[in-house]
Amino acid sequence: MSNVIPLSRPDINDDDVRAVSEVLRSGRLSIGPSTLAFEDMMSQRIGRSEAVAVSSGTAGLHLVLEGLGIGPGDEVITPAFSFVASANCIEHAGAKPVFVDCDPRTLNMNAEDVEAKLTDRTRAIIGVEVFGNPTGMRELAALSAKHEIPLIEDACEGLGGRLGNEPIGRFGRAAVFAFYPNKQITTGEGGMIVTDDQRLADACRSMRNQGRAAGDRSAPGTTGTNLGVERLGWNYRMSELHAALGVSQMKRLDEIMEARARVASHYTQALSNVSDLVVPTVEADVFMSWFVYVVRLGLAYSGEDRDEIIEGLRRHDIGAAAYFPSIPLFNHFRREYGYEAGDFPMSESVSQRTIALPMYVGLGEPEIELIAQTLELMMTRTRFRDKD
Ligand SMILES: *Cc1c(COP(=O)(O)O)cnc(C)c1O
Repeated sequence: MSNVIPLSRPDINDDDVRAVSEVLRSGRLSIGPSTLAFEDMMSQRIGRSEAVAVSSGTAGLHLVLEGLGIGPGDEVITPAFSFVASANCIEHAGAKPVFVDCDPRTLNMNAEDVEAKLTDRTRAIIGVEVFGNPTGMRELAALSAKHEIPLIEDACEGLGGRLGNEPIGRFGRAAVFAFYPNKQITTGEGGMIVTDDQRLADACRSMRNQGRAAGDRSAPGTTGTNLGVERLGWNYRMSELHAALGVSQMKRLDEIMEARARVASHYTQALSNVSDLVVPTVEADVFMSWFVYVVRLGLAYSGEDRDEIIEGLRRHDIGAAAYFPSIPLFNHFRREYGYEAGDFPMSESVSQRTIALPMYVGLGEPEIELIAQTLELMMTRTRFRDKD
C-alpha cells in the first residue's frame, strides 16, 4: 500500500463499473443508445440544443474549427497560457494560431488584448476558461459579436462552473468539454461539443464519423444503414463504453463538484498564512467547478526555484506539476513561428511560478495539511539555498 498522494485521481464507483459492464454485455459497443443518452444529458445540463460526443476534447475543438470552415490562410486567436490542445487544434485545421498573453489576475485573455490581435484573416477566437475560471467570457462574447468573429469556448476545464447564472459552455458559438481522467468527470478519453447551431452540430456529427451522413447509425450489432460520404471526415467517435461511463459520472456531477470545492476550501484555509504564496482568487460572480488547485509563488522565486519545490514535493510522495508552460515557448511553436522568451511576458512570468497541487474527490483534510506543510518547508529550503 503506497502513501503516494497523486496529482489527480478519477472518482470511479460501483455504478460506473456496472454501467460499462452492461454495455460490454449488450454487444453494442459503438454508435448506440449510451452515446445519445450522454449527449442528451450534456445538452440539458448546459442548456444547449445540440451535443455531439467525440473521442477527446482536442478532437471536438478540431471539428468545430472544421465545421466553421476554418483552414489554410486563416488565423485563430488562442491563449498563450493554456493547455497546448487549445493551440494544436488550430494547426490540425491547417490554420495559424495567433497567441494572446494572459491577464495576471484571472489568467484568462483580456478582450482588449484579443482585439489588438485581430486582422482581416482572423476567423475565430478560442476562449479558454483557464483552470475553470469563466471571468472575462462575457467580454470575449461581446467582442466576438461586435466583430462578427465566432467565439469557440474551450470549456475543457470548466464543466459545471457558472458566471452569474450563465453556465460555462454557453458563451460561444460552440463549446467543447473534455473527459480525460484528471477532469471533473471522466470517460477515460472523450469530449463533447455543445451548440445551438444545428447545422454546425450536424457537420460535426458527420465529420466525427468519416464524413458519413449525419443520420448514419450503422454499427456492428445493428442491421446496418449506409448513407454515403458527404465530406472528408475523421474517426472521432466516442465508444459506447466511454459514453456509458460518462452518463454514470454525469449523474454525480454536482456531488463531485461539491467534494472538489471542499478540497479547494481546505487548501485555501491551510495555505492562508504561507507568505509569498498566492492562492486562487474567485471573483464574486463566479461559481467555480474546481479542475485543479494552482498556487503561485511570489516574484522572489525563479522558475528554477519552482521546479525544485515541485521536485521536493514529489520526493515526499506528493503529486505536483507546473501548470502551464507558456505555449509559444514550446519547441514546436518556437520553430514554427519564431517565438522567443519575452514575447508573452505575463504568460511566461506566471508559468514559471505556478504549482498545481493534488485535487481529487477523497483527498482528506489531514493530507491537505501535510501537503501545505511540505510546500511551506520546500519553499523555505529553496530560499535558504539561494542565500548560500
Ligand atoms: C483537457 C483540455 C483539452 C482537451 O483535452 P483532451 O485530452 O484532448 O480531451 C483542451 N483544452 C484544455 C484547456 C484542456 O485543459
